[in-house]
Amino acid sequence: MGTRYLLLGLVLWLLFTAIRSYLRQRHEDRRAKQIMNSMNMVICDYCNTHLPQNEAIYQGNRYYCCKDHLHLSKKGK
Ligand SMILES: [Zn+2]
Repeated sequence: MGTRYLLLGLVLWLLFTAIRSYLRQRHEDRRAKQIMNSMNMVICDYCNTHLPQNEAIYQGNRYYCCKDHLHLSKKGK
């Protein structure tokens, strides 16, 4: 009799844990997608680093991750 309740409790606990981790995972996925959608990612023309458009330096139809790469890219060409 006692074993049956113990087993039932274990099953309920496993179910609860599984649902909780599923919901947490879904929440994080949605949040990650929202962040990705809100940021338009661009690629640095010099080092190929992906970065948000609002943080990139735009010049000559190209994006750069920092001023250094903007200048290095100009030197290289
Ligand atoms: Zn760069």
